[in-house]
Amino acid sequence: MGIFSRLGRRSSSPQEWTQLWELLTPLGGTTTPDAVDRWSRWARELPEERLTTAADQLRQAYDVLDTEKHGRALGVEPFSGIDRPFARLRFLRVLDGVILAGPDAVERVADAPELVRGYDTVHLLDPELALGDASPAHVNLARLLDEARVLRGTLARSVEELRGAPAVEAWVAMSKLDFSSATNLWTTSRRWPTVRSAKGPRRQRFALEDPEVAWIDVDASMLCGDGSEDVEPDHGHHDCWVAAGHAATLEVYRALGGAAGAQHELAHRHVVVEAMPADEVTGDGKSAPDVGPDALLVFVELGLSDLEQTVVDPQARVALLVRRTAERLSRAALPWSGPNREALVALASGARS
Ligand SMILES: [Zn+2]
Repeated sequence: MGIFSRLGRRSSSPQEWTQLWELLTPLGGTTTPDAVDRWSRWARELPEERLTTAADQLRQAYDVLDTEKHGRALGVEPFSGIDRPFARLRFLRVLDGVILAGPDAVERVADAPELVRGYDTVHLLDPELALGDASPAHVNLARLLDEARVLRGTLARSVEELRGAPAVEAWVAMSKLDFSSATNLWTTSRRWPTVRSAKGPRRQRFALEDPEVAWIDVDASMLCGDGSEDVEPDHGHHDCWVAAGHAATLEVYRALGGAAGAQHELAHRHVVVEAMPADEVTGDGKSAPDVGPDALLVFVELGLSDLEQTVVDPQARVALLVRRTAERLSRAALPWSGPNREALVALASGARS
């Protein structure tokens, strides 16, 4: 007797999720950027109802695959410290692989969680790849379908326009980790790692320690002017301060040694540098951020002068953010290593590789 009949409460089996399978067929069993791009252009033309039904069936698929037993089949211990944290984003891509293999695969893997290992062919992504231009397919099927629904009928021409910037994507995916749901819509307690009982900091730590997420983020979204008359609605942030912030993030991240760099010295804190107009800085702009033992998310305010905010050239914006971020971070009382500090001083003086 399979899981679908054992559970009793389930009213349908994978074989009956015809709308989902029809919708996924054009992907050809893969989520390469090209395949996703072609698929998204096709899918956004479909009737809303069809997308909604398929998304609902997809959530049922995650519901039977995203369980503790499946998680443990791929990783023994989620909170195993800084060396081997469980990569939640990668796990979701493995589950996507099962779903893309069709109804028989979903049924088999749902019944025998250890079979999920047969789909464990996706690699851990270096955050640098996700931050850079050569962004690999970083697709979660639930998100893809949701976006197709939301953006149906809009002018999105490619997956690049359909999706947000990669760094934002990663944050969206991580924010969905709260209460350990793949889709944030189901509330069973069978998912793993279940962080519901974990204390706040531990829960946060798990989210922040996903090795696929960069430990630093230069967030310049406050300078974008989104919502004002000067800025086109839904402009995608491809050329504005937000994009400059992402490029600056990548540069600072690389200079500080990437994934291995400051992460260890910082005891796995996630550092968010918030670029904002100088007159909106709440502190004095100099004092150290609050870095208590439980403060895993560290916010550092970076005030830009009126003159600095008038910079328009994209490359000049990136250079400005890199220089000012490094200068600001070098003054923050964070546990930088010697090499970290040297890199910050070099960047702050305008040296760029
Ligand atoms: Zn923008």
